[in-house]
Formats: sequence, structure tokens, C-alpha cells
Amino acid sequence: MESILATAWDERLAGPYDVIVVGSGYGGAITAARLANAPLNPKLKICLLERGQEWPIGSFPDTIEHVAEQTYNATLNPLGLYQVDVHTAIVIIRGSGLGGTSLVNANVAIRPEPDCFDTWPAAIRQAAQIPEGNAGSLWNYYRRAESTLGVGPHPNGLQLLKIQALQKRATELGKKVELLNIAVNFDQEGPVFTRDGKSVMRRKCINCGDCMTGCNVGAKNTVYMSYLPLAKLGGAQIFTQTAVRHVEKSNQGWAVSVRRHKNRFAFEDATLVASNVVLAAGTLGSTEILLRSQAKGLSLAPGIGSRFGGNGDFFGTAYNSDQITNNVGWGNHPGDPFDRSGGPGPSIVGLARYKTDASFVQRFNIEDLTVPRAYRNFLALVGRKRAPFPNWHREFTGATAAPRKGCVARRSQRSTQLLSDVSLHGPRRFRRAALPARRQSAHRLARRGS
Ligand SMILES: Cc1cc2nc3c(=O)[nH]c(=O)nc-3n(C[C@H](O)[C@H](O)[C@H](O)COP(=O)(O)OP(=O)(O)OC[C@H]3O[C@@H](n4cnc5c(N)ncnc54)[C@H](O)[C@@H]3O)c2cc1C
Ligand code: SF4
Repeated sequence: MESILATAWDERLAGPYDVIVVGSGYGGAITAARLANAPLNPKLKICLLERGQEWPIGSFPDTIEHVAEQTYNATLNPLGLYQVDVHTAIVIIRGSGLGGTSLVNANVAIRPEPDCFDTWPAAIRQAAQIPEGNAGSLWNYYRRAESTLGVGPHPNGLQLLKIQALQKRATELGKKVELLNIAVNFDQEGPVFTRDGKSVMRRKCINCGDCMTGCNVGAKNTVYMSYLPLAKLGGAQIFTQTAVRHVEKSNQGWAVSVRRHKNRFAFEDATLVASNVVLAAGTLGSTEILLRSQAKGLSLAPGIGSRFGGNGDFFGTAYNSDQITNNVGWGNHPGDPFDRSGGPGPSIVGLARYKTDASFVQRFNIEDLTVPRAYRNFLALVGRKRAPFPNWHREFTGATAAPRKGCVARRSQRSTQLLSDVSLHGPRRFRRAALPARRQSAHRLARRGS
């Protein structure tokens, strides 16, 4: 894969770095960017280690076969982009590449509600109580991150058909749809970083809906488009395909044992040294490093590796409704059957808040969702084998089929409606209560068919 931001492995320092940052998602990229640009004399020697590879714009998978081929496996595919860990009680999805999960998330960049911090340590709780603009306010840092990531609402969000569907249901329930701040670029064009004649190019969003498999346009404001170029411009070295195994105390500070992958199968083991190490390899990645380090003798708190929780998201689908939602992605493929007027729009664009007067844990929100092109093909494959509805396969592929008397014109335009129910309490009960009878029976059918 082409490298624009990544540093060549043989440029690594033999002597100690001031700081080694592990992981290149939000945590690692922001840390590296801010430390590399700190106004210190001499400048800090910063190195960022990322186990995944660099994914230049245009190289992200957009078919289910390519997604499957790029699924991470520690032994068989250590450079794969999509990591899916299936455990008994939880399934965890994360990104593994230069930019971390920001490469494949749904772009939403909203601030937490203030009472979210009620159970946090005192220093953060107090900082959250200071109004934005005043010294010490936590919200100043949100504003700074929003500015660097370039977040804002979709300029034509309310015209997207999926948002109109969300709005219709919200209105029926006495609620309103808000357009969310999303990390997507709608108005700028040009290079964000250039090296040796190769550039990371930013482009305007084309509403193709493929954000969660990776944006092939250059419009998703990932940390690859923002903080990582900033870190690089500040002088940080960025090593990709370099997985940290464990860390140990040494007389120079810390010894960081790494496995450097030349490609999927060939690797070498090495050790880098630093005065300070920042573990920002994600919730699980950092914990894995700590547990391996503990096994090598590092003394850690006994709770490490326990008490994980999810973020409380639930997905709900409604099919064959009367509302055209146009929420199936078409990737960057002009002429694709789902390249329809206006486009589906980025993964998530709006939200309706429910139970807003209830306690913090009882509130829930409902957002729209666009299915990326690659997954629509997957759903079509499933539908071909065990279609719960007569035209399931056709709706996900855009294929034309023999017209059904009396309802063809409307049906041929209709896409599957897929709303993401972000509900903390009983998504099934919610779906039954919120959907009219015709769609309830579709749900029962879907459950029986799956
Ligand atoms: C499909 C999806 C949609 C999402 N949508 C949203 C959204 O809309 N809004 C939102 O706020 N959040 C969203 N999230 C969650 C959000 O993206 C994550 O919370 C966030 O990216 C976590 O950042 P991080 O820096 O902690 O970890 P990550 O971004 O996961 O970065 C960790 C990095 O460390 C690397 N790493 C791991 N182990 C090692 C190792 N041993 N050595 C070297 N490197 C290592 C990984 O490869 C990875 O690149 C979504 C997540 C997913 C999966
Ligand atoms: S909708 Fe398409 S162009 Fe816009 S950010 Fe998502 S993937 Fe990129």
C-alpha cells in the first residue's frame, strides 16, 4: 500500500524517544499532534506506532468480498482493516489502520450531555461545570477538537429522504429532528499534506453513504485527514504495520517490544526505547498490551481487563414501509443503481431525542443510518438464499425484476428502510409500539426468516 504519512522503518531512532505513542486513532493522533507541536526547545522526539497499514484515499474496500479479505485476524491477516471480536456477551467492532476506528466510524461528533460527567473523577466533573470560553472549561477542548476535525451539520440534511422519514416518525411522536455535527467535509477541496509529490487530498462529500467501510472520496474528516498530518508536520515519526507486544521498565525509561510487519506474513521483532509511553491503542488494544506486559512482570492494578461495557446502541430495521428512504450506499461509483438523486447521505446525519425529561439513563435517541455499498451486497446475498420478503434481493441490488401488478412504479424506487434505534430500553418493545401494524408483521416475518 502507498505511504504518504508513514515513516520508513529504517529511519527509526536507535536512542530513546521522549515519547512513544501507541495507536493512531483519536487518542493517539491527538496526543502525537499536540506533543509534536508543543512550543518546547528542544522539540520533543515523538514516535507513533500503529499496527495497521496506511489506507490512502481510494483504497478502501467497497464490495463484500474485499471487506472479507480485509478483515483483521492476528495470525492470518494482521494488516486487515476491520476487526470484529465475537464474545459470548458482546460483539466489538474496531478499525485497525493509520487513523484507527475514525477510518470506519459513522462520523458523529457531538458533545456529551453535561450530566454524563456526574460519575467521573472530580477534576473532570468540575471542568465540565465551567462554561465554555472560561479558563479551565472542559468545553474549550471540545471546541478545539471540533475545529481541528472540521465538524458541522450536513448543509442539506433535511432534504435527504432518510431524514424526512426520521422527521415524519418524530413529528407523529411530538418530537423534532436535529441535524448532528458530523466530521464530514462539504465545502473544501485541496491537499492537507504533501510529500514527495504525493498528497492526502480533501474533497467534498458526494453523499455516497460508504463512510463506515472507509471514504474513498476524501470527504470523511478522519484523523488521517487532520491530526496525523499535524503530527507529521510537527516532526513526529509515524510507523505503521508495527504492533506493540509489551512494555517493560528499562534504565532509559521504557523498552517497547514491537513486531514490525513487512507484509501480511513477514515480520521482524524489535525494541524501541522512550522516556515516556502513551498507550492509546483503544479500550481493548491498550488493555491487551497491559495484560501482556503484566505477564512479563509489570506491576498493575488488579482490575485491569475487567468490567467492560458497550455504548448502548441497538439497530432496528423496518422494511416495505410507505416511506422512500434512499439509505443504501453506492460508493464512489457514478452510474451505480443506487446513485440516485441527492444520494443517501453520510452514515448518520440526524437524530430525534426521546424521553428528554427522564433521568440520564432513561433517555434515548433515534438516528438514521445508511448501509454502505459493501454490506448491501452482503444483505442481497443473504436475501437470495433466505429472502424474508419477495423483493428483498432486488431492493438491495437495485436489480430490476418482473413487475408485480399494481405496485411496481412505487416499489421499484423504494429502498429498504433501516433506522438505527439507539435505545437504552427494550428496542423490541419500542419497535412494536412505534411501528404501524403493517410493518409489525414485516418484523415478525423478518424474525422468522432469520
Ligand atoms: C462502526 C462504528 C461506528 C462508530 N460511529 C461513531 C460515531 O459516529 N461517533 C462517535 O463518537 N464514535 C463512533 N464510534 C466509536 C469511535 O470511533 C471510537 O470510540 C474511537 O475511534 C476510539 O478511539 P481510540 O483512539 O480510543 O481507539 P481507535 O480509534 O480504535 O484506535 C486505536 C488504534 O490502535 C491500534 N492498535 C491496537 N493495538 C495495537 C498495538 N498492540 N500496537 C499498535 N497499535 C495498536 C489500532 O489498530 C487502532 O488503529 C464508532 C465505532 C464503530 C466501530
Ligand atoms: S457520504 Fe461518501 S463522500 Fe461523504 S463522507 Fe461518507 S463516504 Fe465520504
